[in-house]
Amino acid sequence: MSTNPGVRILVLDDEPFMLKLLARLLTNLGFTDVATCDNGHAALERVDDAVHMPQLILCDLNMPGMDGIEFVRKLVEHRYAGSLILVSGEDERTLQSARTLVQAHHIEVLGSLQKPVLPQALHQLVERWVPPARATTRAPGRGYVVERLAQAIRTGELVNYYQPKVSVATGEVMGVEALVRWIHPQDGMVFPDQFIGMAEAHGLIDTLTQVVLTTALRDNAAWERQGLKLKVAVNVSMGNLTALEFPEQTTSAAAAAGVAPQSIVLEVTESQLMMDLRAPLEILTRLRMRRFTLSIDDFGTGHSSLAQLRDVPFDQLKIDRSFVHGAHHNETLRAIFFASLRLAKELGMEVVAEGVEDADDWAFLQGTGCDLAQGYYIARPMPEDRVLKWVADWRLRWSAEQRGRPSV
Ligand code: C2E
Ligand code: CA
Ligand code: CA
Repeated sequence: MSTNPGVRILVLDDEPFMLKLLARLLTNLGFTDVATCDNGHAALERVDDAVHMPQLILCDLNMPGMDGIEFVRKLVEHRYAGSLILVSGEDERTLQSARTLVQAHHIEVLGSLQKPVLPQALHQLVERWVPPARATTRAPGRGYVVERLAQAIRTGELVNYYQPKVSVATGEVMGVEALVRWIHPQDGMVFPDQFIGMAEAHGLIDTLTQVVLTTALRDNAAWERQGLKLKVAVNVSMGNLTALEFPEQTTSAAAAAGVAPQSIVLEVTESQLMMDLRAPLEILTRLRMRRFTLSIDDFGTGHSSLAQLRDVPFDQLKIDRSFVHGAHHNETLRAIFFASLRLAKELGMEVVAEGVEDADDWAFLQGTGCDLAQGYYIARPMPEDRVLKWVADWRLRWSAEQRGRPSV
C-alpha cells in the first residue's frame, strides 16, 4: 500500500522537530491525514474520539512524563485497535524488547524505527501495511439493538469478506472462507463478534446464515465463470442446526446457484453448550449424506472437542489459531498442535491451520503434514471483488518464493 489518503495517522513525540519531520515523510508517502501530538495525554484524547481515532500511531519511546511504554499500556485501556510503529534513539535490543512488550498487549506492531529516521525505513514499514479496519469499530461499549440488526439483514447491510485457504505443500489456492461484516452507514465496518451472539440469542441466526450462504454461492459461481474454481466455506453455528429444514434449504440454495455440495464447506462451531444434541446430529448427518463438507471449527477451544469428533462425521478439522500462531517457538502450543493434527489424520480428516500470521508460522507448517493454511500471512479477509486479483498476485508471490529457495 503506497498511497492511502484516507488513513488516519498520529505521530507522538515530545520533540517538535521530530513531529515535523515524520509528518513530512508520511505526507511524501501519500498519507494526507496525519495529526501530531507532543504528549501522551493529548494522543489518548484522539484515540477516544470516534471521528479522529487513528489507525496507525508512530510513537516515541523516550518522552518526559508519560513515556512510550506507559502510553502503550494506556492504549490497551482505551481499547485502541490500530497499529503501532515504535520510534526511538535506543539501541536495537531495547527497541526489540519494547516491541515484544507491546505485542504482549495484543497491539499490532508494524516495526520499529531508530532515530535518525530514514525515509526508506519508514516506507518499508508502511508499504505492506493494511489499515486495520477494526480501528474504527472496536469503540468501547457500542451495543446494537436487535431490531437494528434485523433491519441490516433485510436491507443488505451485511456483506461477505473472503479469506483464502492455501495448500501448505503446493501453495495452490484451494478455497475461501466467508466472513460476514456489517457495513453500518454511521459506524463503518462492524465485525461479527459484535453481532453474531445477538443474532443467535434473538432468533436471527437462521436468516443471517441464509444471507451469507446465498451471497457466498453467488460469488463462488461468479469466480468459477471467470475460471477460478474454489471451495467456499460458510460458518454455521449450532443454533442453525436445530431447524430441521436446514439441510433442505441449503441443498436448494446450492442447486439454485449451480454449485456442487462438494464445493461447499460448512464450518461448525458450538459457542454455547447445547442441551439436546439430537437435532444437530441428525442435521449434520443428513448434510454429510448430501455430500457437503463438514468442518469442525476452532478445534481445541470451548465446546469444539473430542466428543464432537466422536459423534459427528466431520471431513475437516480447523486447528484453532491460538495453537498455531507462535507454535514454532512454544513447546506447549507445538504439543497441542501435533496432537490435534495426528488425531485428525488418524480419523482421515483434512487439516487446516488457522492464524498463520507470519513467515515463522508458515515455515513451521512446512513438512508437518498439515494440509491447508489460513491467516494474515497469506491474506486478510477481503471483499469479493478483490479475490481474483489476489489469487493472481499470490501465484506470483508463490513462484517468486519457490525460485528463491535453494533446490534440493
Ligand atoms: P472464525 O470462524 O474462527 O474465523 C476466523 C477469524 O480469524 C476471522 O475473524 C478472521 O478475520 C480472523 N483471522 C484470520 N486470520 C488471522 C490471523 O492470522 N490472525 C488472527 N489473529 N486472526 C485471524 P472475524 O472475521 O472477525 O470473525 C470472527 C468470528 O465470527 C469467526 O471466527 C466466526 O466464528 C464468526 N463468524 C464470522 N462470519 C460468520 C457467519 O457468517 N456466521 C456465523 N455464525 N459466524 C460467523
Ligand atoms: Ca470459521
Ligand atoms: Ca477459528
